[in-house]
Order: sequence, then structure tokens, then C-alpha cells
Amino acid sequence: MNTGQKMLDSAQQLIRKTGKNMGLSEEVVERLVQPERVFEFNFEVEMDSGRKKMFRGWRIQHSSALGPYKGGIRFHPETIREEVQALATLMSIKCAVAGLPYGGAKGGVAVDPKKLSESELMRLSKRYALKIAPIIGADIDIPAPDVNTTAKIMGWMIDEYQKVKGIKSPATFTGKSVAIGGSLGRTEATGRGGVIVLKALLEKMKKDPSTSLGMTRGLTIAIQGFGNVGYYFSKLAEEEGFKIVSVSDSKGGVYVKDGLSTETTLNCKKEKGMVSGCYCKGSVCDIRYGRMISNEELLELPVDVLVPAALENVINEENMDKVKAKIIVEMANGPITEEAYEYLSKKSVIIVPDVLANAGGVTVSYLEWFQGKAGYYWTEKEVNNRLKEIMEKAFEAVWKKSLDRKIPLKQAAFEVAIGRIADALV
Ligand code: NAD
Repeated sequence: MNTGQKMLDSAQQLIRKTGKNMGLSEEVVERLVQPERVFEFNFEVEMDSGRKKMFRGWRIQHSSALGPYKGGIRFHPETIREEVQALATLMSIKCAVAGLPYGGAKGGVAVDPKKLSESELMRLSKRYALKIAPIIGADIDIPAPDVNTTAKIMGWMIDEYQKVKGIKSPATFTGKSVAIGGSLGRTEATGRGGVIVLKALLEKMKKDPSTSLGMTRGLTIAIQGFGNVGYYFSKLAEEEGFKIVSVSDSKGGVYVKDGLSTETTLNCKKEKGMVSGCYCKGSVCDIRYGRMISNEELLELPVDVLVPAALENVINEENMDKVKAKIIVEMANGPITEEAYEYLSKKSVIIVPDVLANAGGVTVSYLEWFQGKAGYYWTEKEVNNRLKEIMEKAFEAVWKKSLDRKIPLKQAAFEVAIGRIADALV
């Protein structure tokens, strides 16, 4: 079975199971499982050679019970309908967990953007925007960046959308650059949201005498992935007093026992093109400070907190018994397989689910949309304060549900979300 189909099956199964546990009727559960609209289309793009090439694209709108649809657009050669549908479904859950006035959607194009020139990528983005223009809008469906799509691509798309509609509507796309109505704080938002949730969790654990966790200062963290999410998580967690002992990228990672410097590591990565070899403490990088580590080893380190922030399914049947962390914060989407999730939950590992942990990104997208609609823009501090407020409130609801129902945080997050969506169905 392909991974897209697997993702869709597991998201739908989880909704069915949660709906049943909550005593929802079969009709309501089916409405939560099935998408409201699946738009699949082919479109042609002129290549630099003058030849036209056909691509397949999707925009799938899962639920609008809580508000307009919201979700990113990904460009990836392996993107298929099932994957886009699974991600649209999970966006409905994520927005509902975060308490945002949105439903869920997702878009995609089966394309390898690395094989396109800049002008081909621009034409493809604009053609895609033209195709979905009739079914999106600031009060209908608000796209955003996802895998391989950027603020620049959002700029091309909104330009095309506004031209074809003959309006100015900055709130129709989020994740734009600040120059065209993007929000301050959006770039850091996902990492920042994850650190806010981790701190809120530790605050609760402080009150639990059965665990020594709870103190932020000196708690060790290993982070897989040093891209947008991993880097900002590392930087902000370090600022909060956590000890980041390991980070990695696709070429491998570093282990620095005494705690690494995120900023110096980033500068070193920029110079060398990879994290591997960057053993950086304070402002100095030196081989004596650390050692090289593989991505597999990183997941098995004896740390307090493990943060997968790169790919899906990295913690699975093969390595689940080697994971030693007491807390896992799912910053990537779906980094733990179902089998590993069951296994680790039984071992009382606390797993902060992706639909909560990485909701900071969509939350600041919401704040961007809000500012775009109002035509009034907040300072970065104002944005960060609002993000904190929303994330802490979301965590509180999930934590309370988890205690009341004696269920792990992931199940609790799904119950909170499904309860909110089901209540809004008319
Ligand atoms: P990114 O492309 O900026 O960074 C990805 C990082 O993962 C890079 O450092 C890359 O080198 C590393 N990586 C790639 N292959 C790897 C491998 N085999 N082993 C270890 N590391 C590997 O992407 P991002 O925006 O940081 O997103 C990371 C994850 O977070 C994805 O799962 C994404 O869906 C999820 N996410 C991102 C956001 C966001 O706002 N960016 C929001 C929600 C969820």
C-alpha cells in the first residue's frame, strides 16, 4: 500500500474510532470522514523549450463546519489524491484543536519543483492558482505554503488570483512575504508554538510527584531536522534554558554533550552545507566538543525530550524499543507510526501529537488572515503574544480531556477536535 493511502486509512480509522468512543451517530462520523469536495484536475504549463507539459493537481476541501477551509499546497513528485485528502482531513482536526475558526483543506501538484527553472515554477504556480481560483477566497478557502512551496510562490499565486478576480484580497493566501501582507512572526511560528506547548506540558508535570521532569533548565533535547521547524524549535528552546544536545539534517547530525549553540551551528551549516561536523558551543566550533551522529542514533539518544522535526514515520517498528526519551514532541507531521505509537504509549512515553505540537504555523496563518482582512498589522510582539495565548489554551483543553478521560494526549486531541466539529454540524 502506498504511504498516501496508508495515511488516509489511518486518519479515517482514528476519526471512526474516536467518534464511536464519543458515542456519535454513524451519520455524523461519516460526515467527519468524507471530504466535502475533491477537486482533481490536469493543467498544462509551457516549459522554457516552448513545449507544453501536463501536470495533475488537487484541492481537497474536507470540512467547513467551523469556518472557511484552510490548508497548504505541496509540490512533490509523489503527491497523490489520497495523500492530499489525508492531509486535508488532518487540517480539519488541527484547526479545531487550536480553536481556530477554520475547516480543513489541502492542495497539491504532482511535480518535482527541483527539475523546473524559476520561470517554469512561476508559470506552474500561476496556472495552479488559476485552476483553483473559482473555489478559493478569503471567506471560502485560504491556501498557504507546504512542502516545497514558499512565500515567493504564494506571492505568484495571489497575484494571479487577484488579477483573474479583479480584486485585492490579501487574506486569500497566507504565508506571504511581509511586503505583500504577510505576518511578522510567521517564519518562527511553528517552532515557537512547539516550545510553548512543551513548556506548558512541563508546567503540568512539575505538579506530578511521580516524575522528576518539570524543570526546564538543563533538560536535554535532541532534534531531528534543522530546517524551518527544527532550527526555530532549537533556537527558542535554547533561549528558554533547555540543553540542546543533538540536531541533524538529511546528511546526519551532531551530538554535543554539554549543549550546543543553535546560532553558531546554523552559521557553520551555512558554510559547510551540512550540520555534520559542526560541534559548536558558544561562538566556537571544535571537534573536541562533540561527535558525529546518524539520524537513526539521534532518535535513540538518552535525552529527556525527543523532537522529530523532519519526516514522517521515522519512529517505527524497527526502532521503537530503542527510544529512550520520556517525552516526544511531534513537530513533523506523522513522525511516529501507529505500531510505534501504541508501543510507546504503553511504556508511558508522553507523546505531544502533531495536530497540537505543530499548530503554531496555522495559528499565525490565522493571525495573518485576520490582519489581512482588517487591513491593520500587528507588531511581532503582539503576534507572538496571541500565538502563546492560543497555543496554551489549546494545550489546556487537550490536557484536561486527557486527565478527565484517562487517555493519551493524541486521543484527547482528536476528541477535543471531533467534539468541536460535530457540535458545529448542522
Ligand atoms: P524544511 O524543509 O525547512 O526542513 C526539513 C529538515 O529535515 C531539513 O533540515 C532537512 O535536511 C531534514 N531532513 C530531510 N531528510 C531527512 C532525513 N532523512 N533525516 C533527517 N533529516 C532530514 O521543512 P520544515 O518546514 O522544517 O518542516 C519539517 C516538518 O514539519 C515536516 O514534516 C512538515 O510537514 C512539518 N510542518 C512544518 C510546518 C511549517 O510551518 N514549516 C508546519 C507544520 C508542520
